[in-house]
Amino acid sequence: MDVPGLCAICGRPARPAATCMLCGSLVCPRDFLPEKGICKRCAGGGRRVPAMS
Ligand SMILES: [Zn+2]
Ligand SMILES: [Zn+2]
Repeated sequence: MDVPGLCAICGRPARPAATCMLCGSLVCPRDFLPEKGICKRCAGGGRRVPAMS
């Protein structure tokens, strides 16, 4: 459930918004890893996601 303008992870307003390169979710800066360009969820925060290998 992706609500435009809201972080896909924590649900708070994503300002400034960041977009995960893996899942394409809009996330807030707190849930985004700028050094990898992905969100915390894709980075392996508890849940495994098939990553590029
Ligand atoms: Zn967030
Ligand atoms: Zn992601």
